[in-house]
Amino acid sequence: MANSPVPKPWIAAIHAYVPGKASGDDGRAAVKLSANENPLGCSALALAARGEARHPSRYPDGDSNALRHALGAHHGIDPARIIMGAGSGELLYLAASAYAGPGDEVLFCEYAFSLYDIVARRAGAEPVEARAKDFANDVDALLAAVTTRTRVVLLANPNNPTGTYLPRSEIARLHAGLPAQVLLVLDLAYAEYVDPADDDGSMDLAASQPNVLVTRTFSKAFGLAGERVGWGTGSAEVVEVLNRLRGAFNLSNEAQAMALAALDDLAFVEHSRRHNAEVRARFVAAVNALGNHGLRCVPSEANFVLVLCEGQLSGKAAYEGLAQAGYMTRWFPVPGLDQGVRITVGTAEEMDGVAAVLRQLAEAAR
Ligand SMILES: *Cc1c(COP(=O)(O)O)cnc(C)c1O
Repeated sequence: MANSPVPKPWIAAIHAYVPGKASGDDGRAAVKLSANENPLGCSALALAARGEARHPSRYPDGDSNALRHALGAHHGIDPARIIMGAGSGELLYLAASAYAGPGDEVLFCEYAFSLYDIVARRAGAEPVEARAKDFANDVDALLAAVTTRTRVVLLANPNNPTGTYLPRSEIARLHAGLPAQVLLVLDLAYAEYVDPADDDGSMDLAASQPNVLVTRTFSKAFGLAGERVGWGTGSAEVVEVLNRLRGAFNLSNEAQAMALAALDDLAFVEHSRRHNAEVRARFVAAVNALGNHGLRCVPSEANFVLVLCEGQLSGKAAYEGLAQAGYMTRWFPVPGLDQGVRITVGTAEEMDGVAAVLRQLAEAAR
């Protein structure tokens, strides 16, 4: 017999989530471009609401009623079909755990959000990766990888860490090709950054289909990553199932108050979207001008860009050189992805600085 507690084998196989770093190994402060946070902060209304939240001695509203009703009103959704999560990450866990377990498969594409592997394993299910195409989610590969054991499909649109975006027609084709008993989870963490004209139809599917869950978050464009506010919407049945599993008081008083106030200031989100689109375009142009050094950007609809280093300068060396220069970015030691550096779109000054360092590194590597 073991002389200490033994975790379940599928738990033992989990590699804990690695967050983006805020400083280099030497502890020096750096510009943090590693976690896709909003460089503009958050709405002033949300900050003001922070001090007016319910007293800390009181439990929060376990059902986040005011927030769900405000979200429902804004998106035209019955609040009964909205579930709040302590970040949308909690909802991804709940979805996988509710519908998949040992012997089942949770399917996603390679180069997907690193949390998906953990989400699948925590449920005891087997994570299955379909091949990506040009760093993007590939609907044909996903559909070809579906088996009788597939229970949940996870897809982020835009995708993290590649920034790629599938159009409405592809999302519809994926849903149409899945068996009815498979839950399709569409992770829209970066939806607020997408041009409204390019709506991928996920919300319509969540409103009309019994096997679609959309997850969204206040962590990115709303700038409330530290408050842990995510939400999901799908059929009343799916939402009811997930509600049984979630933490009873999963959103703090402060988190609920700040998110509610943030919804009253959508001008801040719109400003963030425009700022991001502008700065991203300028940065992408600067990097793509280094094509003769083997640098190029994967097309991104999000608030980050995957810069591919396919010449003398390696992805790892670019990541390390940027850290040395005071810019913390993200490098994934994953085969096929390791020539890339994921860089959050910061302020214009920060991104001009990043582009200048990349040019120096690329020229020095010749
Ligand atoms: C950042 C991110 C999330 C959001 O996580 P929260 O738990 O809401 O902070 C979800 N999915 C993807 C793909 C992300 O990049």
